[in-house]
Amino acid sequence: MYDIKAFQEDLKELYANGAQVFDIGYTYLGRPIPCVFKGSEEGKQILIHASIHAREWVTTPLVIEMMKAYNGKCGVWCVPMVNVDGVMLCQEGLSSIPDEGLKTFLLDVNNGSEDFSLWKANARAVDLNVNCNALWGKGAQNVTYPAPANYIGMFPFSEPENTALRALTERVQPVVTLSYHARGNVIYKAFSCLDPSPEGAKLISDLTGYPLLDTYESTGGYKDWYIATFQQLGLTIEVGDDDIPYDKLIDTLPAICERNKDVLNAACEIAQG
Ligand SMILES: [Zn+2]
Repeated sequence: MYDIKAFQEDLKELYANGAQVFDIGYTYLGRPIPCVFKGSEEGKQILIHASIHAREWVTTPLVIEMMKAYNGKCGVWCVPMVNVDGVMLCQEGLSSIPDEGLKTFLLDVNNGSEDFSLWKANARAVDLNVNCNALWGKGAQNVTYPAPANYIGMFPFSEPENTALRALTERVQPVVTLSYHARGNVIYKAFSCLDPSPEGAKLISDLTGYPLLDTYESTGGYKDWYIATFQQLGLTIEVGDDDIPYDKLIDTLPAICERNKDVLNAACEIAQG
């Protein structure tokens, strides 16, 4: 398990070792969403984020390890746990929800089950990675009602976690973004007919060994919105073996870290052209 306490300890360690740590906003339940910054604010900037999907929380300690090791020239803005409420719901169940009405709602959305270990959405059952303004609502798996996964929300960027991530992106103007998800050991690139940096995508595919797939059908994701808006390299990196349960992926963290250890340096190289 890598819980919220372990996450907070890691943030303290990063801060103690010279990284900037600050909050980019608040979740639906009012919890702060931390961001870690290393490198220089001059020159090219990179944005990396993880755990936008609750059950994929293994990506948080992964990007934390990547940030601990990073000492390159580019500025790197890392949001290690976008969906704080969702991760806590996934790991701790309804005891993480402070409001009785919301508990009842979530139990109902989860078909009466108190096991939230496969939950992907945030604390009001919106899937943050189909809620962005990029062909919003056009995905084949999208649903229009609250659900553990795939609910697009009432309108694009309806969720505070996403508006916080969007505001950070607009402020720092990254030229490369990396969105960490689980599972599948694959990298998704491109959006609709846009494929801004096929060479950059290939470089990261080659060094991780994750094969590259185009995602012409993907809609409403952060990567989709980033590519549509900035027309720069945005990748969704899916880590972990498909046959390992989500809550057991943490047992393979060292191998996942090993595979991704050069990604930030490569992203910086790509950013600097
Ligand atoms: Zn995901």
